[in-house]
Amino acid sequence: MRSVDDLIAEGVSGRRVLLRTDLNVPLDKDAPSNSGAVITDDGRIRASLPTLQALRDAGARVVVAAHLGRPKGEPDPRFSLAPVAARLGELLGTRVPVAGDVAGDDARAKVAALGDGEVLLLENVRFEAAETAKDDAARGELADRLAALADVYVDDAFGAVHRKHASVFDVAERLPRYAGRLVARELEVLTRLTTDPERPYVVVLGGSKVSDKLAVIEALLPKVDRLLVGGGMCFTFLAAQDHGVGSSLLEADQIDTCRRLLEEAGDRIVLPVDIVCADRFAADADVSVTPADAIPDDLMGLDIGPLTVDLFTAELVDARTVFWNGPMGVFELAPFAAGTKGVAEAVSAVEGLSVVGGGDSAAAVRQLGLDEAAYGHISTGGGASLEYLEGRELPGLAVLAG
Ligand code: ADP
Ligand code: MG
Repeated sequence: MRSVDDLIAEGVSGRRVLLRTDLNVPLDKDAPSNSGAVITDDGRIRASLPTLQALRDAGARVVVAAHLGRPKGEPDPRFSLAPVAARLGELLGTRVPVAGDVAGDDARAKVAALGDGEVLLLENVRFEAAETAKDDAARGELADRLAALADVYVDDAFGAVHRKHASVFDVAERLPRYAGRLVARELEVLTRLTTDPERPYVVVLGGSKVSDKLAVIEALLPKVDRLLVGGGMCFTFLAAQDHGVGSSLLEADQIDTCRRLLEEAGDRIVLPVDIVCADRFAADADVSVTPADAIPDDLMGLDIGPLTVDLFTAELVDARTVFWNGPMGVFELAPFAAGTKGVAEAVSAVEGLSVVGGGDSAAAVRQLGLDEAAYGHISTGGGASLEYLEGRELPGLAVLAG
């Protein structure tokens, strides 16, 4: 796999580079247009800067392709990249214009006008239905138009490499292709997690849905020394132990799988011992802490309790490799943030490699005021890192390697 630094060494001055980046940031409003919207977490924009700046410094004409949210395959002002362009321009200290389309007349005109070292942001690639189409020919037609905008392709959108999308996969087949610095860094870290990790190796999983993460649990269980389970997904495991979980999140159809996992590897799975419960899903709800095996029927569990934070911290203290994905509770609401904060602190204190994966987990680290530098790596791609750890082939990486 060739890297953007190989491209720069070849000489990229005056050449048009199509740079796929991950600028899919959370905004504070979405209707009826996002103009003037505030970016609540610009981590992904900042993570895109090293590759972008290196290409500018080398005199490339940089055409950035990115997606934002999930528009329905047609232009929609609620999902315009305009607020992202403004923030990107601030961080780069230059004006970043946005094309009025993805790969149409306006994009072509604006690319033609680009000078060396200048940056253009194409409009949200998901404004084209073909971007995410299952049909190869449909994606191919968009990929042809994207490829015509540039001389070479650089993929730095780690958060999208698990998608077989036109701007990630098909366009890479049509141009000389290189991995950006972020993709290279993410891969290096994931390789360390999968190839002979230093032990003890502890994985912490939380977040909302077990079904999303069962595949990664199955893949990781044979490799880890301990798996700590919190967040909304712990209740399906507690139910698999025949405990009542009140009105907590529960995926009834996954209980049998969780029961089997507990039978096979129960000695390595660590579940919460206490739960922060509430009478409703609200910041001003009545809050109480109950033992994990005695959640009252009329309450819902919204965070792991203080004894569990102590237990998980103790399980992490001697770890030499840690992967953490998924908040331990509804950290967005203050009464349910302590579990995530406690675990985030324990993970940051680990001597060795500590990796945080997942959009919400990374946002939690920043929102809770923790020091990002205390972690070995904060991944920009939750889904992509989980699929990599499951051992699946990621289309965006496979095409770069080919
Ligand atoms: P990531 O983006 O880091 O992979 P997920 O998207 O899987 O994480 O999950 C994040 C969401 O899980 C957060 O919005 C959080 O509020 C929610 N969550 C965590 N614990 C619970 C819980 N006990 N009940 C309901 N939602 C929860
Ligand atoms: Mg998420």
